[in-house]
Amino acid sequence: MDITRINKHRHLGVILTSDLSCDDHLSLIIKRTNLKLSNLYRNKYLSRRTLDTIYKMNIRSCIDYCCQVWGPSLNETQISKIDKVQYRAAKIVSGAMYRTSSSALRNELGWESTKDRINYLSIIHFNKIQSNRTRPLIRTCLPPRNENPLDLRVNRMYKPFPEEKNRVFSNSFFPKMAKLWDDLPHECKGGSTNEEVEENLANHFKPLKNKLYSYGSKLGNKLQTQLRLGRSQLNSHLYDVGLSLTKKCACGSPIEDTYHMIFNCPNYAKNRTDLFDGLENCLVKKIKFYSKNQLMKILLFGENTDDNERFPFNKIIFRKFQTFLLKSKRLVYNQL
Ligand SMILES: [Zn+2]
Repeated sequence: MDITRINKHRHLGVILTSDLSCDDHLSLIIKRTNLKLSNLYRNKYLSRRTLDTIYKMNIRSCIDYCCQVWGPSLNETQISKIDKVQYRAAKIVSGAMYRTSSSALRNELGWESTKDRINYLSIIHFNKIQSNRTRPLIRTCLPPRNENPLDLRVNRMYKPFPEEKNRVFSNSFFPKMAKLWDDLPHECKGGSTNEEVEENLANHFKPLKNKLYSYGSKLGNKLQTQLRLGRSQLNSHLYDVGLSLTKKCACGSPIEDTYHMIFNCPNYAKNRTDLFDGLENCLVKKIKFYSKNQLMKILLFGENTDDNERFPFNKIIFRKFQTFLLKSKRLVYNQL
């Protein structure tokens, strides 16, 4: 019987090639996620919370699928292709503007970078294997263990494989994850139960998500997000990315930035009075005890956000600030 030799095979949705390159599978993911991004864009009027869920369930799940197999071996160029998809999604979900910093945007949404995401999902799977929660055969792939992992001179649980000089091999799941596991700080892989270990690992790889940032009407939330990220329709923000010839405000002030808009611009005097009158009972202290910079920070990021009891007050602060932004009509140009 003749058996045709092939160089490429799709196995359970993952494209495997004879040269162990992930390029073909990556192209498939990029093509598929770009199509789904256009769907997300068409629904950009939905709330940020809904768009965030759609992204994670519909788009990120395509990237996550089997990423333990192909993800660890990606190089920087390949990772940047997925990062671009994620960046486009993050802009649609948050309503952030052109040339917003990608790391600021990820922190804003509480999303991990592609590299962290792959490492997180892979290390969780690696931990399942080493803690005997998978089929036994796969454990034979683990690297050789150190006899005495607590020896301070070694301080590593796993020895390198003899084959690790081969770059393709050393970037594959087992060698790479064994090394990552040993490199992780002790506190994030400790825990008395598997759930506790997984929670510690999640805390290590995932940025904290601030649910306050999803609060408010679609447009109000979007304008506040843009100011928090430092990229909005204000002239100083536009000037920084080459979209305006001047930093000047229409009122004649030399710099139109967030501070100027909130505290000084005569164009919004009436809205400003309404804003600060409404804040008096929502802050921890009397308003006169805050500096203007502290107040600006509170309006953008909330006050004592670690304290759950402050959440209802922070919601009121955000609502009042978003009303100020909407009524001032300065940032609404060319928005939705
Ligand atoms: Zn002004």
